[in-house]
Amino acid sequence: MIVIYTGNGKGKTSACIGHAVRAAGHGIPVAFGQFIKRYGCAGEQAFLHNLLKTRFHAKGKGFLFKRQEDMEQHQKAARELLDWALDMVKEVKILILDESLYALNAELISNEDIKQVMAACAQNETHLVLSGRYAPEWLIDEADTVTEMHPLKHAFSKGIPAQKGIDF
Ligand code: ATP
Ligand code: MG
Repeated sequence: MIVIYTGNGKGKTSACIGHAVRAAGHGIPVAFGQFIKRYGCAGEQAFLHNLLKTRFHAKGKGFLFKRQEDMEQHQKAARELLDWALDMVKEVKILILDESLYALNAELISNEDIKQVMAACAQNETHLVLSGRYAPEWLIDEADTVTEMHPLKHAFSKGIPAQKGIDF
């Protein structure tokens, strides 16, 4: 199965964390990769690292401003995470790639890269969960379950900054 969480509303990463917890509760081998975000920037990372050990990998360079000089480093980090994910496919039954769609939209990874992961998952009968803003149409067509988070309101628009434990 391919499951997608996309859209501009809050809850995509939270949904991915939920899948990891749910799968681990069943004793199903699960791997969780996080694009863009650097290790140590969000509470779920230490928890998932404890839960999943080497099957958790956050490999990002932090916020992406699309400055040319940064792009190479961002792409390198994304490439490394992708290679890790392709290794993981062989040993898990659920692969979660948080912010992978954001990385795709930012051109850190390509459609071909995602297709390669999809093919590997299909071959190994591994479920694939992808998240991030801006899921492309072709991927929505390919996926089995797609949820779009839509913000009815978000505290940020009232000027409330990101809250520890809620937003990161
Ligand atoms: P979460 O990590 O809380 O599950 P998310 O993964 O859906 O949210 P992202 O698009 O990855 O959200 O954005 C990351 C951060 O931006 C989170 O702190 C989230 O609370 C915040 N955020 C999400 N949606 C909005 C929005 N519509 N306006 C402002 N901030 C938002
Ligand atoms: Mg997110």
